[in-house]
Amino acid sequence: MDVNQESIRKVSVHGGHSGQFCCHAVDTLEDIVLEYIRQGFTWVGLTEHMAAKEDRHLYPEEAEAGFDAKGEQARFADYFKTAKELKAKYSNQIEILVGFETEFYLGYESYIQETISTHQPDYFIGSLHHVHDVLIDGPRDLFNQAISLSGGLPKLYIDYFDRQFELIHALSPPVVSHFDLIRLNDPNYQTQLQHPEVWKRITRNLELIAEKNLILDLNLRALKKGQPEPYISKPILEYAKKQGIAVVPGDDSHGVKDVGNYFDVAVETLLDAGFSTDWKKPA
Ligand SMILES: [Zn+2]
Ligand SMILES: [Zn+2]
Repeated sequence: MDVNQESIRKVSVHGGHSGQFCCHAVDTLEDIVLEYIRQGFTWVGLTEHMAAKEDRHLYPEEAEAGFDAKGEQARFADYFKTAKELKAKYSNQIEILVGFETEFYLGYESYIQETISTHQPDYFIGSLHHVHDVLIDGPRDLFNQAISLSGGLPKLYIDYFDRQFELIHALSPPVVSHFDLIRLNDPNYQTQLQHPEVWKRITRNLELIAEKNLILDLNLRALKKGQPEPYISKPILEYAKKQGIAVVPGDDSHGVKDVGNYFDVAVETLLDAGFSTDWKKPA
């Protein structure tokens, strides 16, 4: 590609998980913001994971650290306070959007609505990490459990994309994140994505995203986790392009060291697929 990457504005539509507010991330939120500034980012969306509604929805590392759902909700409120302070403090150096990332356990539609009205984020990102309330991007044994609850691997993909459709339909998240996260534990994911019943759902979800004019993130954490390509996989990305959907890089940073990782890969991938690098900002 002949485009001068220097001229392309650096942004992250999904970033800023910190050890201060999340037990599987590291570093303070301020240090992470300072790193975005140091690397010359134009804007960054801070998108901490939302707090659990009930104790049974806690991530194991949060429970091990002694959090219950109430404690996590208090820490989440503290996150908004801190993030809004940082937004004001560094407003002449970087534009910070204060957001959050959803969980989508069964029955979470109204809880997410409550979270939005309580904390008044600048935006939020719609993510699905659970199918049948079982974590699909964690340990392999949990993934296997989700497969058996679905009744097979293709069926799990179908259930994932059906549940994602419900999320998009119910909540219209301004950004839909790591669209094909379901592939993380499946080395032969290309085969599953091409399964006619799976592909039918992928295109249906993308058409809904296009109709609602939502953004997709090109999520770079996939590369850190050893995936051969970012989420979204190339054939899906090509269909998103045909639908006119805006796709924007998201480093999904979980510490200072993750900030800006693989941004060049995102630019190259998106230019190759014909996308604009005049990044759409969520609102
Ligand atoms: Zn995380
Ligand atoms: Zn996520």
